[in-house]
Amino acid sequence: MTGTHFNYYQVCHRKLWLFANGINMEHTSDLVYEGKLIHEMSYPQRSERYEELEIDGIKLDYYDTRNKVIHEIKKSDKVEVAHEWQLKYYIYVLERNGIEGVTGILEYPTLRQTDKVELTNPDRERIREIEEDIGRIIKTENCPAVINAKICKLCSYYEFCYVSE
Ligand code: SF4
Repeated sequence: MTGTHFNYYQVCHRKLWLFANGINMEHTSDLVYEGKLIHEMSYPQRSERYEELEIDGIKLDYYDTRNKVIHEIKKSDKVEVAHEWQLKYYIYVLERNGIEGVTGILEYPTLRQTDKVELTNPDRERIREIEEDIGRIIKTENCPAVINAKICKLCSYYEFCYVSE
């Protein structure tokens, strides 16, 4: 399971199902590249101080090892709750691998906004529940229904979900 699963779980179960079942409309590598570009333009000196870390299915682009802080860069704050859970999941995975005392910072350079993210006991409990729920959703045979939400217009699956020939 990856941070993207956690993110999409908050956004839309259909999106989660499509992603988990290999139907990809957006180029994840483009998004990663875009995030990195925003970071490097916004904080030109910082990239050298942070490390890339791949562990247990997740990949952190900017991990401050000395201070145990994960920096997660987002280009907007449209779906903040999903961003927050994605970051909480990263902290959870590090904990699960014996790295204690980690916190996270969500950064929105274009908005000049940062949010500190910490993992609480109720969050740990909730993450375990979400993991189970994600497993259940992605194994279902049928794709969940469209959600007809505002966010759909910004979703890479929009045409797939709503535009028929
Ligand atoms: S377009 Fe809407 S319904 Fe379809 S996957 Fe995206 S968020 Fe879900």
